[in-house]
Amino acid sequence: MKILVVDDSGISRKMLIKSIPENIRESSEILQAENGLEAVEKYKLEFPDIVFLDLTMPIMDGYDALKEIIEYDAGAIVFVISADIQQKAKERVFELGASGMESKPIKPEKMTSIFYYLMDVISKKS
Ligand SMILES: [Mg+2]
Repeated sequence: MKILVVDDSGISRKMLIKSIPENIRESSEILQAENGLEAVEKYKLEFPDIVFLDLTMPIMDGYDALKEIIEYDAGAIVFVISADIQQKAKERVFELGASGMESKPIKPEKMTSIFYYLMDVISKKS
């Protein structure tokens, strides 16, 4: 599996990657991007199975990146992980086509359940 982790904070990316269940992490190719523009470019190049996306980033934020990724691939699986989980932000990301959203930092237990959920989303896709 290919997983794209997008966050402008290197520490956040590292923590997120660490929270991915070990069996999945070790058998996956983990790609990283540090802003929305880089995320869109990497998506088009690599077609990752799952994208974990931050919202507040320089150059291009997560909302615009999500919009562009979904426009490019309506079946993209993008899971938003952000410090901003206000109702308004939630509504907006789901409107744009996100598969889910959680607040950061993500605990490993939470990540395990997110992966169960995402595997289910992937299996229904094909
Ligand atoms: Mg950020």
